[in-house]
Amino acid sequence: TANAVGWRFDHTYAQLPKPLFEPAKPALVREPKVVVLNHRLARELGLDFSALTDTEAAAIFSGMALPDGALPIAQAYAGHQFGGFTMLGDGRAMLWAEHVSPSGNRVDLQFKGSGPTHFSRRGDGRAALGPMLREYIIGEAMAGLGIPTTRALAVVTTGQPVFRDRPLRGAILTRVAASHIRVGTFQYAAARGDVPTLRALADYTIARHDPDLVDSPEKYRAFLRAVITRQAQLIAQWQLVGFVHGVMNTDNMALSGETIDYGPCAFMNQYDPATVFSSIDEMGRYAYGNQPRIGQWNLMRLAEAMLPLLHDDSKIAVEQATEELNRYPELFQDAWLAGMRRKLGLRSAASGEIEWLQQLLEWMLAAKADFTETFIALSESKLPESPAEHASALQQWHAEWLSRLAAEGQSPESVREAMQQANPLVIPRNHLVETALEAADERDDLQPMQDLVAALQNPFDRTTDRAPFRTPAPAEYCQYRTFC
Ligand code: AMP
Ligand code: MG
Ligand code: MG
Repeated sequence: TANAVGWRFDHTYAQLPKPLFEPAKPALVREPKVVVLNHRLARELGLDFSALTDTEAAAIFSGMALPDGALPIAQAYAGHQFGGFTMLGDGRAMLWAEHVSPSGNRVDLQFKGSGPTHFSRRGDGRAALGPMLREYIIGEAMAGLGIPTTRALAVVTTGQPVFRDRPLRGAILTRVAASHIRVGTFQYAAARGDVPTLRALADYTIARHDPDLVDSPEKYRAFLRAVITRQAQLIAQWQLVGFVHGVMNTDNMALSGETIDYGPCAFMNQYDPATVFSSIDEMGRYAYGNQPRIGQWNLMRLAEAMLPLLHDDSKIAVEQATEELNRYPELFQDAWLAGMRRKLGLRSAASGEIEWLQQLLEWMLAAKADFTETFIALSESKLPESPAEHASALQQWHAEWLSRLAAEGQSPESVREAMQQANPLVIPRNHLVETALEAADERDDLQPMQDLVAALQNPFDRTTDRAPFRTPAPAEYCQYRTFC
């Protein structure tokens, strides 16, 4: 049959005012080959890829034979990149369909690396295999951790080189996202001084992501609050697993509340707020410890863009925006504290807990302790290993932890069980990711990546041996750098 896969397309973004997008067309691909099909994600979306031959799948996910009804467009947006404002747009991406799953879940299907668009500027519109597979791996890891994220539905190679500092294998990733509407999309409409388009975009985004607010009085303000809340909660979740996004530009912050745009991201090993992996982040603007503050800075840019919608009187609009933004630090802290309590098996707030949690972090920093392994040890009722000079600080902290648990009257078994559901055994360690990418890129050996992804999809599972995924990084990885 024509549509055995189960595509259910319904294009709504392309009905928005014209400046928000441009028509696009995937570039010709000489020799498309499937590297990964995400069958698990496909099933969640009501799609059945078993109906496709490899050749058919390669044709679809290279853009050479888009399914009937697909409508590729490049979305316009702007963004503050490392603090500087620029008009941007999908330079190497195109939205080719909105798919509505049988349960009514609407998602964007977007290509990344499918050739130049109206917004490519001097770029080639292409992507290399390594970074596309890295996006697939990290997206599955985040989903496994229960953190809102875009995910990869497919990765294909093009059979054509892309030229960076050396020739690399070209690839196209199909990204699934709740939407690709960014802080920068609002900035784009606002920077053009185009209030009708800004309003149409806001109404569209509210209908898509916050339908409960459509009829609320002050709906734009309520929407701003919803976005602020989602971001505070999202970034708290990043902090709780040691995720460093790497490029928190305003064009890489999705209003849906999903983590988006996996470029030079990586997970922290030893706890250190100054952790930076990205080769282009020389100032550490997007370091692990700065992420919460950068989140608020980005949301300020969103609020600024929305001022014309909040109130006719600009002074009142600024007051309203400020009130909403001022809620962020507490929203973040509440989400972070709730998550830390979960990681430590605690059920309720208690006095002095912030200072006490700070002591644990200070010990980790001083002891150069691995963030993930510290919580694993605690969840196994073990005292984490400590250099002798920091052992007494840890013991003091630990004694207080035990007394806090005792005060809650919880059994050790229930504490342990709760903690093991809150602390992952497996995270995408940089050396594991690199090893998997190398095997795939250089030897077409996908097994290491598949094994890693399978482990990352169930990071809390203790029924199988996780030791292979918990090996410490070789020494050369302490200066690990990631590239876009
Ligand atoms: P990113 O750093 O991935 O968030 O990208 C920032 C901007 O640069 C976006 O507008 C991208 O579309 C654009 N861009 C990144 N790489 C390329 C490329 N190879 N060709 C064209 N545009 C690109
Ligand atoms: Mg981006
Ligand atoms: Mg990117």
